[in-house]
Parts: sequence; C-alpha cells; structure tokens
Amino acid sequence: MFRTLKSPTDVQVEITDCCNITMLKFIYNKEEEFKIWDGLKEAIKEPVRSITEKDIKEVSVSSVTAEAMVAKVEKDWLAIEPNFLTQLGKFYRRKLEPAENLTAFLVRYYRFPYWYRGEKCWFAVPLFTSQIERTRVIMHELCHFYQPLKLPESVKEAIPVILNDHDLFKMYREERGHADPEEQKWRKIIWESYQKGKSLWDILKEENVAH
Ligand SMILES: [Zn+2]
Repeated sequence: MFRTLKSPTDVQVEITDCCNITMLKFIYNKEEEFKIWDGLKEAIKEPVRSITEKDIKEVSVSSVTAEAMVAKVEKDWLAIEPNFLTQLGKFYRRKLEPAENLTAFLVRYYRFPYWYRGEKCWFAVPLFTSQIERTRVIMHELCHFYQPLKLPESVKEAIPVILNDHDLFKMYREERGHADPEEQKWRKIIWESYQKGKSLWDILKEENVAH
C-alpha cells in the first residue's frame, strides 16, 4: 500500500498504560499525525488532498481529548484482541501473540498506511470515527501484520474478507476492500474457501500461488 513511507522518528508523547497486557500501543501524537500525512498526501488527488489537510489543521486535538480517546480505544481493543488473534490464527495456522514493538497511531484522515519493517512497526487508525469502523481498520491492518508469508498485493488485500464472519471476529462493519478486479476475484475465492473451513495455506495450494 504505502510501503515507501519512512518510519516516523521518536514519539514525543505516549499515552499508554504501563499495566496494559497488550503490547500493541495506541498513541495520538500531533507531530506523528502530520508526519504520516506528509508521506501520504502526494498520493492523494486534489481537491481531496487540500480538504483533508485543512480538516486536520483547523482544529488541534487537546491532550485531554487525546488521552481519553487513547484510553477508550485501548479498552475497546483489549476486549476483543484475544478472540481476534485466536480466529486469525486458525486461518493462518499459527499461534498469534499480541504484537511487540507495534504502534497504532491515531490519525484524522481516511487512509491508513502502515510500516511493518525494522524495529518500529506502526499502522494508522482513525481517531474520530465509530468504534465499529475503527475495529474494522485495526483488524484489517493486523491481518497484514500477522500475514505469515509475502503474497501478491491483490491476495494480501483480499485476506481481510474473512473479517466478514462478523460474529466470529466481533467485527460488525462490511469489509469490502478496494475496487481492483483482481483483489475482488481473490476476495470471492478466499471467502468461499474460508466458509468451507479452509486455511490460507489450503487456499494458496489449491490456487497454485507460489510461496
Ligand atoms: Zn490493506
């Protein structure tokens, strides 16, 4: 997706709970929010780019609001993370643990890049949206984070279709993906196979995807 983005530098304000059992850290940091935007905006066409930039520049998020949101988002995620890791782990045929060295930056735009290389891995999550939509984004990005092998872009972006097993994943938004016909073809294949109880490995083997 946005693999050319550089990893943000050191975070200045981290609002995390030291007693938290998850290793996934949620952070709102204004500098990081703008840094990620700077790496992203060239790919966004006008006038959407200017509208979005104005939107995030017009209002500063107060530290009180940021702290309250981070606490809420963490609490929401902690409640569903163990089940999510179990269910995704069944599909990937791996035991998945809460991620170490992974940060979720809360941002106020609508594109959610990630960087999953090196020591400081991160992804972006919407700060102001419904819990329902935020959960979809977190789970979508974590499908990529935990993906056990490198795959073509269209296959990678198709995998989150399994999140449409809403009650199982406790994810109640429609996970539609991108308009790309190749991705949509893969979404159909993966969804149908997933419903028959097949794992990612079964599907790749059946479809002759080299790995
Ligand atoms: Zn994606």
